[in-house]
Amino acid sequence: MTADRTRAVLTLNAGSSSLKVGLFPMQGDAALATGLADRIGPDGTLTLKDATGAAIPALAGDLSNHEAALATILASLAARFPDLDLAAVGHRVVHGGPDHAAPARVTPALLEELARYAPFAPLHQPHNLSGIRAAMAAFPGVPQVACFDTAFHRGHPWVNDTYALPRRFHDKGVRRYGFHGLSYDYIAGELARISPGLAAGRVVVAHLGNGASICGMMGGRSIASTMGFSPLDGLAMGTRPGQIDPGVLLYLMDQEGMSAGQISDLLYRQSGLLGLSGLSNDMRRLEAAGTDAAAEAIAYFVARLQRELGSMAAALGGIDALVFTGGIGENSAPIRARVCEGMGWMGIAADAACNAAHARMISPEGAAVAVLVMPTNEELVIARAARALV
Ligand code: ADP
Repeated sequence: MTADRTRAVLTLNAGSSSLKVGLFPMQGDAALATGLADRIGPDGTLTLKDATGAAIPALAGDLSNHEAALATILASLAARFPDLDLAAVGHRVVHGGPDHAAPARVTPALLEELARYAPFAPLHQPHNLSGIRAAMAAFPGVPQVACFDTAFHRGHPWVNDTYALPRRFHDKGVRRYGFHGLSYDYIAGELARISPGLAAGRVVVAHLGNGASICGMMGGRSIASTMGFSPLDGLAMGTRPGQIDPGVLLYLMDQEGMSAGQISDLLYRQSGLLGLSGLSNDMRRLEAAGTDAAAEAIAYFVARLQRELGSMAAALGGIDALVFTGGIGENSAPIRARVCEGMGWMGIAADAACNAAHARMISPEGAAVAVLVMPTNEELVIARAARALV
């Protein structure tokens, strides 16, 4: 290795129709480049940016599937960083099963194990694993590191890890895994850095993006999550309903004759904000829409979140801080204001000016509960894990 080579780690986050990448130096938090291949398929698009946010020219290339998209991204990055020397590749993997509480170096045995969890997360795990296989083929000999969305939650007390089903189901892996762990890991670390006193206490983090969940932490460790066996439970989301009576699903099967595939499509793609509004899964669009159905969808989102906040505070025995993060949590002052307005009884309040300015601390002086707005950075958590393992 010569001194002028760009030694870096690559992060990959392979979703069902997207591939997010980050290129990070061996030290420091700022990415050298970030990229997104979106709508992978015939209409795929690729955007790449450098550390200043300026566009990196994306080479014309195949975006018809994940492997092709990765090759096109790598070719574009190689044109911009001709001396790139990859030390490791870090991958977001949705499911690490019951035992992985930390990132792990990818081996053939690990890949085999992770493939066994695909039935637990059929819409995500297969894409994550094909991302790993594509990177192994592109960079033979470069260490690959798997970072699990479930890992942060592995220390849940038993009552928050199980369902009240016959015990054999828990033994077979039917458990409350919890997700969004990379985001929560990042927020826990940042909070410990900026406010160790708060981080040591009872903290509820609301990750509100297209997928949404809340996590209750004590001393920086996850105690409970609104997401459980799958990323369907808890809050209403862009296209997922959140909490639902299982009796509804039995009814849909028995009386409406819906198959498992049809119910899966209903729950993952047609419900939540999209289903309620009949318009969009996108909070920005709903806030701008001005229709009754859009207003009701937002009202449901807020009400569900408030109920889950109460539940999480009960699980923690109180609450010292509430952190908003994710696309909605970081950017929507109206949603934060509405959530806080209804939670005064719990000591949660937002200062209107601080909230409108997206200040880091939005609770009023002397409030019982600190309310913060913190941007999350899942890619950085992956990059740090990849750096740490090489
Ligand atoms: P993902 O879960 O796919 O990573 P994000 O964390 O980017 O998604 O969050 C996407 C959500 O954030 C969308 O509902 C989007 O409308 C919402 N969002 C982003 N910016 C704003 C904004 N300024 N106001 C309201 N909602 C916003």
